[in-house]
Amino acid sequence: MLKRKPIRMCIVCKQRGFQDTLIRLQHKEDNIFLFQGFGRSFYVCHNCMDDAKKRVGLAKRFKVNSENFDKLLKEIDG
Ligand SMILES: [Zn+2]
Repeated sequence: MLKRKPIRMCIVCKQRGFQDTLIRLQHKEDNIFLFQGFGRSFYVCHNCMDDAKKRVGLAKRFKVNSENFDKLLKEIDG
C-alpha cells in the first residue's frame, strides 16, 4: 500500500500542501519559533513567510514583535 504524505494547511493563506513543504512553527510566551517537537504547532507556507505584509499580519495575530520574524527567517534560510 502506498504511503500518503501528510497534508497540512498554511494558517495565513489557507493553502494546503505537503507537510514537508510547510514551515512548522509554534507560539509561546510572545514568541514564534520553529517547532521544538512538543506543544501546539501551526504551519505557514514559504510564500507567506517570504511576504513581509503577511508576516506583519501574523505578528499581530500572535501579538509578537516583528523582530521575532527577522530572527526566524534567518533560522529558516540557514
Ligand atoms: Zn501561506
